[in-house]
Amino acid sequence: MEIFDVAVVGGGPAGSSCAAFCAANGLRVILIEREKFPREKVCGDCLNPECWPILRRLEIDQRVRALPHGVLDWVEFISVGDRHVRLELPRGEEAEIAIKRSAFDSVLLERAGKLGAEIREASTLTSIEKSDGGWKLTIAETTTAFRVRVLVAADGRNSTVARLLGLLPRFAKERVALQTHIPLPSGFGNRVVLQLLVGGYSGQAPVNDSELNLCLVGKPKSIRAVQAWATQYFNLPSTQSWRTITPLKRSSLPPARENVLFVGDAARVVEPFTGEGIFYALRSGEVAAAAAKEMVRGRVAEAVRDYTAQHAAIYRGRLWINGLARSAVVSPKLGSILFEFARFQPALLGLLTRQIVRHPERKHQSGSDRGIPPRNL
Ligand SMILES: Cc1cc2nc3c(=O)[nH]c(=O)nc-3n(C[C@H](O)[C@H](O)[C@H](O)COP(=O)(O)OP(=O)(O)OC[C@H]3O[C@@H](n4cnc5c(N)ncnc54)[C@H](O)[C@@H]3O)c2cc1C
Repeated sequence: MEIFDVAVVGGGPAGSSCAAFCAANGLRVILIEREKFPREKVCGDCLNPECWPILRRLEIDQRVRALPHGVLDWVEFISVGDRHVRLELPRGEEAEIAIKRSAFDSVLLERAGKLGAEIREASTLTSIEKSDGGWKLTIAETTTAFRVRVLVAADGRNSTVARLLGLLPRFAKERVALQTHIPLPSGFGNRVVLQLLVGGYSGQAPVNDSELNLCLVGKPKSIRAVQAWATQYFNLPSTQSWRTITPLKRSSLPPARENVLFVGDAARVVEPFTGEGIFYALRSGEVAAAAAKEMVRGRVAEAVRDYTAQHAAIYRGRLWINGLARSAVVSPKLGSILFEFARFQPALLGLLTRQIVRHPERKHQSGSDRGIPPRNL
């Protein structure tokens, strides 16, 4: 049986970030990912500016910038009644961009591997057993089992780790998301569009010179109508293939218990409308790596306490705007009221948008790097 300090389940931004920082911290880490990369993912593909400092600490910011991407100079809100409000977004090196997850996630996963993490793609975690103060993990595609001291769940909103440990919160299938890439409509411009629709909303962002990311969100009973709207609006063929995901909302989990850490969507799911999930995933992965190191040293209780506090701090002061966005998109009436208010109070809309698309001040750089030796990156 192979033995590792840490197993990270899931190779999205949370898992790759955590595995990369664990490896940089000198831990023996294995990352188990169900898919073979590159793979797409249901996402709006927008990278919040606050991701840049973390990508810099991973020394992949220049690589990410060199990938094909869409420049987002402004955000355009469109109401159900087809009224438009535009807001400028921060510009420059650390601006918001849109980038295909197939490309972005691959660079992150590769970086984790370069830093020394053992990467096992096409490997689906299927069972977890307690073993010698750690965990024995089994994956579907092989008979090999692994023994690890610390388990990191980075396996997304439908976390298998949470399910196998009996921790996955019950959720109602309140809304569903559909996503695809389509040919970039000519003259689309350097903008991200957030369009309220009867029965849901749509996000649109150019991800390179030729493709547009198209996301649709709606209740199960209205999603087909929203999809029919998109098919007509963008003149899509009936054969257009769509990826899908649910739930869009579920209760959060305590992010640490014994020697298990939850990162990214596995711990807490945020409203897609605000386009912040990748930031939370990267940052919680980074912070969890320091906690994993403490756990491997035997300081489990301290690590659980510290990671729980640090995880809460990542979200502190940000969740109200997420809740407001969710309420606005779930209730067409509230959405319209807020939209009309914002049309006549653009300063207020600017303020709200800046709460989400924050230009990276150096806020997360000091203190937060505790336990991560930059020389190893
Ligand atoms: C419609 C929509 C639009 C969004 N738009 C944006 C946006 O524009 N910007 C933004 O920042 N965020 C956006 N988000 C949120 C963002 O996609 C997520 O927050 C982010 O992907 C979370 O990263 P993660 O690493 O936690 O999980 P994921 O990216 O979901 O990665 C989890 C990984 O775990 C793997 N996995 C799952 N189960 C297993 C298993 N049993 N064994 C092994 N591997 C497993 C999966 O294959 C996957 O690769 C959006 C979300 C939705 C639904």
